Amino acid sequence: MKILVINCGSSSLKFQLIDSVHGQVLAKGLCERIGIEGSRLVYRREGAKEQTVKAPMTEHKTAVKMVLDALTAPGTGVIRELSEIDAVGHRIVHGGEKFAASVLIDNGVLSAIEECASLAPLHNPANLTGIRACMELMPETPMAAVFDTAFHQTMPMEAYLYGIPYAYYEKYRVRRYGFHGTSHKYVSRQAAKVLGERPEKLRLIVCHLGNGASVSAVQYGKSVDTSMGLTPLEGLIMGTRAGDMDPAIVEFIAHKEGKTLDEIMEILNRQSGVLGLSGGLSSDFRDLEDAFQAGQPEGERALKAFAYRVAKYIGAYTAAMNGVDGICFTAGLGENSPLIRRKICAYLGYLGVSLDEEQNRKRGEDLIISAPGCGVKVLVIPTNEELAIAEETCALVQA
Ligand code: ADP
Repeated sequence: MKILVINCGSSSLKFQLIDSVHGQVLAKGLCERIGIEGSRLVYRREGAKEQTVKAPMTEHKTAVKMVLDALTAPGTGVIRELSEIDAVGHRIVHGGEKFAASVLIDNGVLSAIEECASLAPLHNPANLTGIRACMELMPETPMAAVFDTAFHQTMPMEAYLYGIPYAYYEKYRVRRYGFHGTSHKYVSRQAAKVLGERPEKLRLIVCHLGNGASVSAVQYGKSVDTSMGLTPLEGLIMGTRAGDMDPAIVEFIAHKEGKTLDEIMEILNRQSGVLGLSGGLSSDFRDLEDAFQAGQPEGERALKAFAYRVAKYIGAYTAAMNGVDGICFTAGLGENSPLIRRKICAYLGYLGVSLDEEQNRKRGEDLIISAPGCGVKVLVIPTNEELAIAEETCALVQA
C-alpha cells in the first residue's frame, strides 16, 4: 500500500510517501513558512536530488496541493495519479484520554481532536488544518490519525496522576499523558524482535533522545510510565526545554527578574535545557560534545547533567517494573552518540551493564551494544516514526 504520511505544524508540513509493504520511502519533503512570506517546498524523490520550489503558500491547503502536484509531476513524481495513494496517515500530537490507539478519521474523530486542543494549543489546531486540507483535496481517500500520546494511555493511575488537588484532574484532565508514543512503541517492538522475544515477555526502557527527549517504561508490551507529562516540558533535560524542576522556581525567577508567566514559560521551553545549562553555547549535542572534547566546562556541565537525568529515570523505571530486561537508545542523539550512551551506561553498573565499545561505535542499524553475557541488554534501535505511522494507517485501512 502507498501511504502518505503528513506531519503538519503551524507553519510547516512534513510528508513522506511510503510503500508500507516494503517499508520504502518513495518521496519525502517539507513545506516551510506556510502563511509567511518566503514559503517553499523541498521535495526529494528516492534516489534523486533534492528540489526546492519557491511559491507563495497562503494556507495549508495550498501546501498540500503543491505536495500532491510534486508527487504526480511527470518526470520527477513517483505516482501517476492521486488515486494511487491508498491512505493518508496524520501525526496528531495530543489525543488526550479520548484516544488509546490510532483511528480512521470521521467527523466524530475531528471533533474529539478539536476538544483536545486546549491540551496542545500550538499543535492540535495545526494538525487539524492538515487533515482538513487533505480531506478537501482527496475526499475519497481514507485518512488515519496517529497520536503521540496514544501508546502511553495504558499507564496506571499512580503513574499518570500528579500530587495536586484531584479536582484539577476531574475538571480539566490535568495528568501525565506523555509524548513520542509512536517512537516508544515502534522501538520497543523492534527491540523485542532483535532480542528474539515477544514484547509481552519483556520489560524495556526506551530512551528517545533527540532535541525533544523522553524515557518510557514498557512492561510486557505496554507503556507503564513516561517522563513527559501534561506537556512535553517535563522529564529529561532537553535541547532547550528544562525538564523536571521545582515548580516554585517559576515564581522565584518571575520576582527576581520581573517577568510574566508567559515569559518564564518561553524561557523554560526555548532557552533552557542543555542550551541554558551551557550558558547559551548550543542546543545541538554535536556542538556540546565538541566543547566537551575541547575541555570547555560549558560542554561538560551540560552533558553531565543530561546523562545523569537519563540514568536517574532508568533507575526509577527499573523500580517501577521490578526489573528490566533491555534498555534501548533511539532518536538523533540516542542513535548517533557513543559518548552520551557511554556516559549514561556508566551509571548502570548495579544492573551488571557494561558496553561492548566496538558495537557502541557503530551506527545506522539495530544493535546490541552491551557486552556479551550482560543480563540486561543495551540496544540501539533507529526510530522511524513515519514508517510506524504508515504501518498503523495501513493496518486500519485493511481492517
Ligand atoms: P528532534 O526530532 O527532536 O528535532 P532528533 O531526533 O533529530 O531531534 O535529534 C536531534 C539531536 O540529535 C540534535 O541535538 C543533534 O545534535 C543530535 N545528534 C545528531 N547526530 C549526532 C551525532 N552524530 N552526535 C551527537 N549528537 C547528534
